[in-house]
Amino acid sequence: MNETCLDAHIHLWEYCLFHALPSLASSSCLEEIESVMRGDTRGEWLLGVNFNQESIEEKQIPDRFLLDRWFGDKPAVIVRSCLHLMIMNSQAMQRLGVYQESGLFLEADVFAMLNRLLPELPCHPRDIVERGWRQLQAEGYRRVIDMAMDKAKRGLFYQPDFYTVDWDLLDEALGFKIFLDGSLGARSAALNAPYSDSPGSSGCLNYEDQALQRLIGRVHQRGKPVSCHAIGDRAVAQFLRVIKTTRHPLDRLEHVQVATLAQLDEIARLDIAVCIQPCASGELSWARQRVGEARLPSSYAWNLMRERGIRLLAGTDAPVDRVSPYYAAQLADRQEGSHHLDYQYVIDLFSQSNWDFYGWEPGSASQVI
Ligand SMILES: [Zn+2]
Repeated sequence: MNETCLDAHIHLWEYCLFHALPSLASSSCLEEIESVMRGDTRGEWLLGVNFNQESIEEKQIPDRFLLDRWFGDKPAVIVRSCLHLMIMNSQAMQRLGVYQESGLFLEADVFAMLNRLLPELPCHPRDIVERGWRQLQAEGYRRVIDMAMDKAKRGLFYQPDFYTVDWDLLDEALGFKIFLDGSLGARSAALNAPYSDSPGSSGCLNYEDQALQRLIGRVHQRGKPVSCHAIGDRAVAQFLRVIKTTRHPLDRLEHVQVATLAQLDEIARLDIAVCIQPCASGELSWARQRVGEARLPSSYAWNLMRERGIRLLAGTDAPVDRVSPYYAAQLADRQEGSHHLDYQYVIDLFSQSNWDFYGWEPGSASQVI
């Protein structure tokens, strides 16, 4: 392990935070979750992260009522591993000044609530960042790119590399992050044809073409590229329509988990970099039901992208997925056909291609702390 890796897509604060809080990843039932959370006696709040209902016996998402029963008037919060869902008990909601009958919060609300939790954490955010950064170095990284920096998080780091969702931070940022659609897990990724396991739904786009065109044009006018989250083939299609009208050479597409062959060729022709998450290959076990057999060969199709001549970058999306580049390389290497990438090819993405894209000297360190 002597490569110097660059993670081109990470959620830096959330990674550091998850690294510092009790993980529920290996809890196998609700009872264990309760005892892991109760076991952290550092602060007043009881926090548990990396929760996934698929890995517990009950296959159930706890709600506010269960957390109230467990923890009474101690504020308690559980965050799902995907970062798209969190659960709070009554006391936690009251302390943060929010309310949901079920205690469930979704999508952008999760990031907002995590920011509000900052003053309540059991240790100082700077210590959390230092510990997280040390762990990233131990995993083989010298530099990482955060994908959703905002003003609340910016002050926690010295000079991080980041894409932002905040206009006020754009001058300092590598570019602007735009979410075109959602995720396959939540069936909110925008597909051209309906989900194979839910024929009534095909996800949705977050923008009309014209609004997206104006937004991207505004970013380009400030001399910055965009990084567009596009998971479904309808989102990829929209990106391709719009990017023909306004362009920066470093525009990036993120994820591209479902695409058509024609789209892949078009991405290659337009020389748009795609940042893939090789560790997302682990989703194929359940995602194949979402996309169906017909779309499967061109879904999570890293090898097809490579063959078609697309410029690939690699990220882990940690803490949503595991942070290790070696784990990502192993997982992609185990896949077959269009989903496969050689182990060394993936390592080279992290240790060479990512650096080349930004013209950075491989191994030049992030000024995170
Ligand atoms: Zn992400």
